[in-house]
Amino acid sequence: MKKISTIWLGGCSGCHMSLLDIDEKLIELTSEAKIVKSTPIVDIKNFPQADIGIVEGAVATKEDEENLKKIRECCKILVAIGDCACFGGITSYRNLFEKEEVLQRVFIESESVEKGKIPQSKFVPPILEKVKPINAVVTVDCYIPGCPPNAKVIFYALKELLTGRIPVLPSEMVSFE
Ligand code: SF4
Repeated sequence: MKKISTIWLGGCSGCHMSLLDIDEKLIELTSEAKIVKSTPIVDIKNFPQADIGIVEGAVATKEDEENLKKIRECCKILVAIGDCACFGGITSYRNLFEKEEVLQRVFIESESVEKGKIPQSKFVPPILEKVKPINAVVTVDCYIPGCPPNAKVIFYALKELLTGRIPVLPSEMVSFE
């Protein structure tokens, strides 16, 4: 039985919500594959070996970069799911500004903040100078664009991957936002 692992990086978790929108067909998938890691389904922190790795979100922090490299090492096929992972997407809008400007705006100047300060804790991963799509850090084998991609296209792609094919997505299923 094939194994699937999924993680999210700098994103909104919407792509994983779309994955869960496969609904009852998830049962069909689990008869062909075991989900060994997936933040909303199987919350484990290590990176088990898997046939298919699915990554949501762009690379926004040092921790994102490290986790992306770990899942790449552990998976035979790596899939970028959603516009953030494929192209940077909404997460990369912060590239319009310098990193210090972004931190200042969020933690000091935001209307909801009083006496704010920029976090310095070692438990808060430092953000990178610029947000990157995942293929700027590791090799990617398959792309499922969309913000988020709909459940139908995710299911189609997973079925193809489980039969050993890199999916060619039918154009009517693909959406670019
Ligand atoms: S592609 Fe869209 S839905 Fe997916 S993580 Fe990015 S913003 Fe969220």
